[in-house]
Amino acid sequence: MKEASISRASMDAMIAQAEREFPFECCGFVIGGSSGDAATEEVRPITNIQNRKHAEDPGAFPRDARTAFLMEPREHLAVMNEVDRRKLELRVVYHSHPDHDAYFSATDRAQACSFDPSEPDYPDTIYIVISVRAGKFVNAAAFAWDAEKKEFGEISLGCR
Ligand SMILES: [Zn+2]
Repeated sequence: MKEASISRASMDAMIAQAEREFPFECCGFVIGGSSGDAATEEVRPITNIQNRKHAEDPGAFPRDARTAFLMEPREHLAVMNEVDRRKLELRVVYHSHPDHDAYFSATDRAQACSFDPSEPDYPDTIYIVISVRAGKFVNAAAFAWDAEKKEFGEISLGCR
């Protein structure tokens, strides 16, 4: 099993956001220097606009933010631009599952492969899902793309 490792500070920031945004899904990125050093990690929370889209057009967006997330596009782009400008790595894409387990759903897979169903948008990035029940953190799981199986698989997640 491959192993993902992130800093305790990043994990704590993601957990705090997931609890704060309960009962809705939260989302965001962890970026960092290409050395892979935990000390260079920075968490970039992104606004989940799923509730807004659902209210505007429930036909096109049948789920609300309790079971889905959609990143605010300008905030998303700003992080991508920051990664380019500062020559950083996109280490983690994360979101929470309010009152559900920390698994990688078919919807999560489809969203991670938004351009091409046989390849994730960010093939080298770890995907973290955080389970929150009744507003309290339960656990987190990490998933990585397996290029041979062409599928996401769970990997171990450690804090350093
Ligand atoms: Zn999900």
